[in-house]
Amino acid sequence: MSEIIEREKKVFIQFFNRYPIVIERAKGCWIFDEDGRKYLDLIAGIACVSVGHSNEYVIERVREQAEKLIHVSNLFYTKPQVELAEKLAEISGMDRFFFTNSGTESVEAALKIARRVTSRKKFVSFTGDFHGRSMGALSVTWKEKFREPFMPLIEPVSFAEFNSLESLENAVDGETAAVIMEPVQGEAGVYPAKKEFMKRLFELKEEHDFLIIFDEVQTGFGRTGEWFAKDIYGFEPDIMTLAKAMGNGFPIGAVAVSEEVHSGIQKGDHGSTFGGNPLACSASLATIEYMEQNNLLENSRKMGERFRKGLEGFDFVQDVRGFGLMVGLSVSDAKGFSQFAMGRGVLVNATSERDVRIIPPLTISREEVDLALSVFEEFAH
Ligand code: PMP
Repeated sequence: MSEIIEREKKVFIQFFNRYPIVIERAKGCWIFDEDGRKYLDLIAGIACVSVGHSNEYVIERVREQAEKLIHVSNLFYTKPQVELAEKLAEISGMDRFFFTNSGTESVEAALKIARRVTSRKKFVSFTGDFHGRSMGALSVTWKEKFREPFMPLIEPVSFAEFNSLESLENAVDGETAAVIMEPVQGEAGVYPAKKEFMKRLFELKEEHDFLIIFDEVQTGFGRTGEWFAKDIYGFEPDIMTLAKAMGNGFPIGAVAVSEEVHSGIQKGDHGSTFGGNPLACSASLATIEYMEQNNLLENSRKMGERFRKGLEGFDFVQDVRGFGLMVGLSVSDAKGFSQFAMGRGVLVNATSERDVRIIPPLTISREEVDLALSVFEEFAH
């Protein structure tokens, strides 16, 4: 066993298991372990490293920023924060932003905002939804195994059955502060909301006057082939949560709100020491610019299609889902499949016994997609 793995076992809180690989460096879509073995990375730090590992454009901008200013209190104004918020407004159509350091924190802020501006308490989430592991975010996360040991969580929360109109209609009412939804469920194994389900949700909003929070932590920033999954559905949420790919691996997230929601927020409602840190903001701005300059939305759509077409041709694949480079598939033994691929130098993520997620850097090339597909093909034999 690697020395690093042995040392980790003694000093880390063992909340979860890791793959027995010690990563030393990475470039583009490739990861290198301490023994120099290389892997094609179709996990990308869980959908974070969208413009590729150690992207030179991002590195340069972060270096410039680090020489000027790494951190200062949010008691002061800084240019990178304002520039990033303006850029996000341009690509998202949302009006106002608050910066956080993770997806979970973005969700926490969103839940607080929803309660504040509606003066209601109840949240509605969905079977299969994942929103984070802190007490608030966990309250709207579905998995019983994650929730049960930590009860009581925030109440009241109702879980409607994902993609069931009847269950949704029964769950929402005039007491509902907000419905929080992943437009495409990520941790569950890439399960998109049906268009008619989304349409009904927005009709019910008119009836009961609740807010809609889209958790785009995983779907945001080109993952689905559009800037945001909301653009696929053509519906505008009141609140949106962001993180993951926003900084290409630098820890940064945001909660975005409409002007109307913003009018209900009071001074003093929320805050953060590190949120909007100039270094993270400069990484995020550079990431978005790089995506624009290199047509990565288009590459996400094209390479996603290539993956889906290839996977659909394999007999052992039972189902293929998703948009852009957010690709989900079902097989009879997801763990076995991911271990097989890893043994041949391709990293994919099994999200359940049957589901596998493919979420590579959006810079992935046609040759790299074909290489992955050729490894998957061997699994059939
Ligand atoms: N929301 C969604 C949709 C996510 O996929 C995740 C992370 N998998 C989170 C929230 C939590 O984000 P983080 O791990 O950055 O706190």
